[in-house]
Amino acid sequence: MASPTPVTRLTSVLRADNPGPMTLDGTRSYVLRAPGSATCVVVDPGPDDAAHLDALAAAGPVELVLVTHRHADHTAGAPGLRERTGAPVRSADPDHCHGGDPLRGGETVRAAGLRIDVLATPGHTADSVCLVLADDGPVGALAEGVPASVTTVLTGDTVLGTGTTVLSAPDGSLGAYLASLDAIEAVATAGPTVGLPGHGPVVVDLAARVRAYREHRLERLAQVRAALAALGLAPGAERAVDQVVARVYADVDPSVLGAARQSVAAQLAFLAGADEAARRPPPRGRSRSRRTGS
Ligand SMILES: [Zn+2]
Repeated sequence: MASPTPVTRLTSVLRADNPGPMTLDGTRSYVLRAPGSATCVVVDPGPDDAAHLDALAAAGPVELVLVTHRHADHTAGAPGLRERTGAPVRSADPDHCHGGDPLRGGETVRAAGLRIDVLATPGHTADSVCLVLADDGPVGALAEGVPASVTTVLTGDTVLGTGTTVLSAPDGSLGAYLASLDAIEAVATAGPTVGLPGHGPVVVDLAARVRAYREHRLERLAQVRAALAALGLAPGAERAVDQVVARVYADVDPSVLGAARQSVAAQLAFLAGADEAARRPPPRGRSRSRRTGS
């Protein structure tokens, strides 16, 4: 049976066998435990794959299961893992809680000898959270080039190991996503911080990755604005998604076109909202600033 591979002092990873265009090389489930703790916390059970869930259960006793967001490649295995371990499953989305309360942003979870801070990071989905572990440190291969003392952030799909994140329909939001990047950057600039994504390898400099993500988002937004102008369309126009995708994402692989459509829809909604906000008089005593950057 596969067993989790240590990544940092407090975390190890077990990759599920569900590779694909949206899951990269497979969903990464993480096992968290303080040194010497008899129990562990599992973050993202992954798909409903018996071998994967058996291996996670064998890493236990599992005291608690946490979920970064509602997508099936992270949550479908949650009922099966609860069945195997009896551990409560907590998620920001009540629909994905099993025997546990919904996670709240700003909450501190204490389990397996750890302090786990919950950071609400909507944008990829409305219920996305990141989980923050202070006082961690790299082990094994990661120890080369990473300071001995780091903060670890489990980022779910909000920040990935490679590529960029989709703003998922129907609840993905660009405005929320940009604010979430700010919130992660605030954590990641307080000291050396590594990101443990739901897909793809460790992000060794999370602050730098977040800045690159913001730049990418604002670049895409500028492209979408330019496409709308060239097409003579308002952001809310009928068929705007199709026409903008055809122009801006002309050369993406067909396997990710659905994702591109969802991200464009979120960008058009952002622009429609921003345009609407721009037509309103600014609130008294505050300067009028818009966060579209481009
Ligand atoms: Zn996802």
